[in-house]
Amino acid sequence: MMSFTTDGTSGMHRYFWRLVTLLASLLPATTGATWQVISAEPGKRVEIDRASVRKDESGKSVALGRIILEKPIVDPKTSSYYRIVEALNRYDCASRSYSTLKRTYYKSEGDLLREEDLKVQIEMPVRTGMLDDKLLREVCRPKSGPEAVAAASKIADKVNQAAGELRKANEALLQKEVKRANLQTPVMEKAETEAPPAPPARLIGHPPVASTARPPAAASARSHAARSPTIKPGDSVASARGTPYWTYEGDSGPDNWSKLKPEYATCSSGKRQSPIDIRDGLRVDLEAIQFVYRPSQFRVVDNGHTVQVEVGGSRISLLGKAYELLQFHFHRPSEERVNGKSFDMVAHLVHQAEDGRIAVLAVLFEKGLENPLIQTVWNNLPLEKNDYVTPPDLSIDVAQLLPENRSYYTYMGSLTTPPCTEGVLWLVLKQPQQISAEQLAIFGRLYRQNARPLQPSFGRIIKESR
Ligand SMILES: [Zn+2]
Repeated sequence: MMSFTTDGTSGMHRYFWRLVTLLASLLPATTGATWQVISAEPGKRVEIDRASVRKDESGKSVALGRIILEKPIVDPKTSSYYRIVEALNRYDCASRSYSTLKRTYYKSEGDLLREEDLKVQIEMPVRTGMLDDKLLREVCRPKSGPEAVAAASKIADKVNQAAGELRKANEALLQKEVKRANLQTPVMEKAETEAPPAPPARLIGHPPVASTARPPAAASARSHAARSPTIKPGDSVASARGTPYWTYEGDSGPDNWSKLKPEYATCSSGKRQSPIDIRDGLRVDLEAIQFVYRPSQFRVVDNGHTVQVEVGGSRISLLGKAYELLQFHFHRPSEERVNGKSFDMVAHLVHQAEDGRIAVLAVLFEKGLENPLIQTVWNNLPLEKNDYVTPPDLSIDVAQLLPENRSYYTYMGSLTTPPCTEGVLWLVLKQPQQISAEQLAIFGRLYRQNARPLQPSFGRIIKESR
């Protein structure tokens, strides 16, 4: 038997690895969720899975939580609806911060819509008295008596079960090896000799661009307004071939968007569509937008509708809610008007909050001096549509896009591209920035006109900083 150890070991190794993987997959996520309500208010309920709380290798606490919404909301990525968002968060009990590792969206209980691994993990401070504070306290408090025992025994059962399987498999394997040794069968199954799988490559310590490791298809998830990652015939794939499904003119232009696909119906039936002519705003003291914009690596794509730049590690907060900056892109001329006035260009900075809500910050541009950040983007324009350019040694600081004066107009609207999803919080900065005629002309070579026409405001309330 000893003479067969080489072959035997590799076979064993393989089995061993499979079972270790199986064992790992059982812990701790599938120990059976025990949802505990942390907060219930009109419209939503927040729960935590007590059984999921565990320490990771760095000693931080990882826990699964979820938000259950009373009414489903539209998922801008799939144009479908979801009502439950599960988030796997890592909590630093000492520094009172947390970051989200993964989100899972469900249409309803058990009806999975999509999963989202967050390559960019943003450390969020926990605010006293807010919901995340409650979650932190729940996660960081030591488990008490019977509950802890129950959780531990549940885990122990799973471990025993998996260990039993491992033992059984090993025994079977041993018997097989013994039999083989006794029969003096020639060594075979060379192909089975495989190394244990390498641990998955981690992005830890890498520059905070989400997208570098992602294939273009998944990356289009972060794509514009049309953050539709699901490649359907005639959609992004079509644009990859140079024939975008929806356009800014002709038969597939804005007037016909709603007829191109059932999911685009809101483009014509919606009552809170964007862009609008911003006028007659209520002049009040608006809360200042808190910008936490940090330099980050970036990548540029021409997605067939606009030039888009994806970044990581930046966010804004407003009214106690944090929105992560996903990407920014451009329209020429500006889509929004202010008192009837159109601008030469606009940058839309698309942010998304934990619960899926979208906030778009608009920075208007008028002809003037060259803009250094835009120049960096133009310098890195891809040669082909839907190809990504990720400069390895360059970073951009999105804060450079912002004007000095951060007063703004705000109203509720929609994405300005199909599927024209509503419920988007618009923040339009009042002070325009400058862009050179040459820079404007470069964008014009790619997109002469990529602005959706004005939409009726239907008496929506507009507020503005006074
Ligand atoms: Zn836009």
